Amino acid sequence: MRRRPSVYRLATVSALGLLLSSLLLRLSADSATARAAPAPVTSTPLQPRQSMPLVPLVQRQSLTEHQPAAVRHVVIISEDGMRPDLIYGQQKMIWHEQLYRNGSFSWKARTIRTASTLPSHASMLSGVDVDQHGLTWNTWLKTRGFIRVPTIFQAAGESGLKTAAFVGKPKLRHIMPAGTVDVFARPGYYCKKVSDEAARYIEREKPELLFVHFSDPDEAGHADGWMTASYRKAALAADACLGTIYRALQQANILDDTLVIVSADHGGHARGHSGALPSDREIPWIASGPGVRRGYHIRSAVSTMDTAATALAALGLSPLTRISGRPVSEIFQ
Ligand SMILES: [Zn+2]
Repeated sequence: MRRRPSVYRLATVSALGLLLSSLLLRLSADSATARAAPAPVTSTPLQPRQSMPLVPLVQRQSLTEHQPAAVRHVVIISEDGMRPDLIYGQQKMIWHEQLYRNGSFSWKARTIRTASTLPSHASMLSGVDVDQHGLTWNTWLKTRGFIRVPTIFQAAGESGLKTAAFVGKPKLRHIMPAGTVDVFARPGYYCKKVSDEAARYIEREKPELLFVHFSDPDEAGHADGWMTASYRKAALAADACLGTIYRALQQANILDDTLVIVSADHGGHARGHSGALPSDREIPWIASGPGVRRGYHIRSAVSTMDTAATALAALGLSPLTRISGRPVSEIFQ
């Protein structure tokens, strides 16, 4: 197993070994692949990206480095408490629309029955339900320890890939103990600081697996109610933060190599999300990237545990243990 850094670092990866391994990986990739020119920054974000090569997931595992258009990076963005019906029908969310019009989407994906932030994110990033990952609580409790199963960060790290997580809520650290992810950072509570910090990291380090967490919708939902004016405003803030990440991927010239997955940990109604109503458990699930069908409405049922499985499969990796999630292979051409 590759030795992992023993301390959390905010944004600086200084270990020589990491730099060298990253450089070697990238040199190998760059020399082996005649990449298409990066998509230009467009002033009209609803325009689809051009000439995206297509690679079906079922063949992904057998791809060699000489074939272009394989997914080389995965970015998972979780918008805490974001209801899908807000994204597609209630107000203009230009960056979300950019993604789902150029990608595949489900507005009926579901999180686990324990529809709260920490257990749900643990399932999203491990691919198993609460009974296996063990994170049954929903606050930062230092004495309770960490997730009991390997996460996607460990699977990626053991293959030498660079991993990072930028979050708005410190409790998510229960999912990512030191040594399982290269960088764990909590730049601030709201997504502006989180996305700005993550964007700088993307441009500098070009991580292969990145998780970014936006708190804003959930905060407004608990304070003023889901689907209220305040909640809608918070969702627009999250949309802008999504744009920050998207532009950083463009700036880093890795957008065309990146599978972007946007989802949520739960929905909500009134001022909470007990899991009692469908609106508590229904989450958006949007994927966009190389080989992903465009403007495609996913027909199969999507679980939040499928996010872990899809991310690993897209990177050509296997889970370190048996997981419940399955790759959403329907999204690939
Ligand atoms: Zn939450």
